[in-house]
Amino acid sequence: MRAKNSEWLTHEYFRTYRIANAVDTIMRDPFAYLRELEGLTVDDGIIDFLPHWQKDSALHKFIRFIADDIFMDDSHGPSRVPYGPDPVHPQWILPADLAMMNYGIIDEPLFFIPDDPSGGVPVNHPEGDGNTDPYFVQNACYHYLERLPLLQVYEDLMARIADEVFFVMFTNRRALASLNKFLSMYLDGFSPEYFTEEDKELTKLFAGEGELKRVRPPIWARRAVFYRDRGRCTGCRVNLSGLIDTFDVANYDHMIPLARGGLNDVTNLQLLCERCNKRKGDRIHIPSNHYRRWY
Ligand SMILES: [Zn+2]
Repeated sequence: MRAKNSEWLTHEYFRTYRIANAVDTIMRDPFAYLRELEGLTVDDGIIDFLPHWQKDSALHKFIRFIADDIFMDDSHGPSRVPYGPDPVHPQWILPADLAMMNYGIIDEPLFFIPDDPSGGVPVNHPEGDGNTDPYFVQNACYHYLERLPLLQVYEDLMARIADEVFFVMFTNRRALASLNKFLSMYLDGFSPEYFTEEDKELTKLFAGEGELKRVRPPIWARRAVFYRDRGRCTGCRVNLSGLIDTFDVANYDHMIPLARGGLNDVTNLQLLCERCNKRKGDRIHIPSNHYRRWY
């Protein structure tokens, strides 16, 4: 699921901030969007989030879900962008195709938006013939977009977008905590005994009902969180880099505690000094929103 060539990313910023904004808006009040989020959480959708320390983090999965929704919505407009050498008489394509071309996933559009057969004359207009389908263009776009998610190129696009949006959102501890809090609701009270036969493997991830096992964060996750939080306690701002072993596991706090349905996920970690960590215990508290300036 992750874009290949994993150490370096080339950003194109295609709808990156729009998608980040949608993710943030939904995370601020997930209950207002429960219907939209159903695809992610009903029918055992939560199972994908359970395995420990996936590089394809909870946020990556969430971003793909939202980005897909935004691209699929383009049939409503339809949103269209000009394409071709003639700026006066361009062909029109959908943003999904433009995005895939921007990322170098495809060389040419897969779909051209057809002309409106009514010439834009409303169907009931006296000059119209009354027979043309007023939804012809919308439907054509819809049918294309309906097939698109079955293609590898689209999966590649979602992976690229997820990596980019993750990059700009990973510093936002409060948004990450909200995401993890939202997911924890589905875990809380989740009993391994509900697993179907084929998911029985997942039982061993659990310490008990609604509680995942404590598993040491891998070095890549510790490094990411250490650099994001600049080696400082996110609570009292004390410098942890000189005081302790940089990669001491004890300083990596689960923002949403495992005991409260938290995930073993890089997006659920923050740096805390021992004192702040002890004081926090197994309570859920809002992570700090103070950051050191770049300069
Ligand atoms: Zn502290």
